[in-house]
Amino acid sequence: MSGFDTRCIHGDGEPGFQDPARAISFPIYQSASFAHTEAGTHTGYDYTRQTNPTRARLEEVMSSLEGSSDTMAFCSGMAAINCLFERFKPGDHIICSEDLYGGTNRLLKTVCGKNGISVTFLDTGKLEEVEKAIRPETRLLYIETPTNPMMMVTDISKASALARSHGILTAVDNTFLSPYFQNPIALGADIVVHSGTKYLGGHNDTLSGFLCVKDRALAEEYRQVFKTLGGALMPFDSWLMLRGIKTLPLRMERQQESARIIAKWLQGQKKVTKVYYIGLPEHPGYETNLRQARGSGAMISFRVGSRETALEVLHRVRLITFAESLGGLESLITYPRLQTHPDLTEEEAEHLGITDTLLRLSVGAEDVEDIIADLAQALE
Ligand code: PLP
Repeated sequence: MSGFDTRCIHGDGEPGFQDPARAISFPIYQSASFAHTEAGTHTGYDYTRQTNPTRARLEEVMSSLEGSSDTMAFCSGMAAINCLFERFKPGDHIICSEDLYGGTNRLLKTVCGKNGISVTFLDTGKLEEVEKAIRPETRLLYIETPTNPMMMVTDISKASALARSHGILTAVDNTFLSPYFQNPIALGADIVVHSGTKYLGGHNDTLSGFLCVKDRALAEEYRQVFKTLGGALMPFDSWLMLRGIKTLPLRMERQQESARIIAKWLQGQKKVTKVYYIGLPEHPGYETNLRQARGSGAMISFRVGSRETALEVLHRVRLITFAESLGGLESLITYPRLQTHPDLTEEEAEHLGITDTLLRLSVGAEDVEDIIADLAQALE
């Protein structure tokens, strides 16, 4: 098998796409439907909600990068996560990281709750707590590592081994580190989900999501759910994702390098009371992340002294944009309590630390000196 960077560009197959015009960039098959030659004879493509050549190419590349037997590409990360949970039935139980993307939290509490699925939220980094929460009807352990926004780390090998010993599937949201830095399936997980909107796309211009499944039979079950739910990624967006993934290694390295410098710099700022970055040796998840991942990524959360200071920073940033989302070339700053986690109760927010003094920074690919200069004037 070729190296990771080569597979980002060429996938697993022969370099170059052998179409009649010998296009270097994979074509966009912008067609809703595909002709049948005879009854029962077709090209393998029928209707774009189910299969499409551009999307299929993207799915092959993602399977190669995550080591899955199959990958399904969706129109958003939430569509992929929804498909993951759709397989479970009333009475089933899910154990889930308590700190996680707010949309996933909302999906579990509302849609899954309405469908009769119960959920226990806990710190999946504490395996004794995971073990205590396991019930006969537990079907899934759902992990984010590092978590959004508190950057908590779970040992994927240990957690998935524990789940497997109880016949429970493990799914990991790998959005923050991307397959460039972390491969949960190689560590023992059964399923990987992504918001492809973030580092995989990398340009803050396309929404997408992925469900990468290790086991072929389970993947086939999910293919049925996928084509029935109708949340597939469309051809042009699939092409944008293919293009984004080609530069994933370059972007991840560059953004991580800047994030490491910025995290250290933030620690020295008098208005910053705490920095949450898994690449800092004092981070409680540093050692575990070092063992299981090839890097620490470019997401930093930090706390300031007061709500007023947080609002002031959001008002004053110029180069860094105050906006939701992450993982693109443009640096973005987010106010999690209002933007990604508005549905948490005060008690939950307090318990998790997602309060009105917390800010989350997605370090982009601008000159690191410019990002620091912007933060410096905002924190003056
Ligand atoms: N998972 C994580 C960790 C996220 O940060 C997000 C979005 O911010 C999602 C999933 C949902 O993805 P999307 O916004 O593409 O639906």
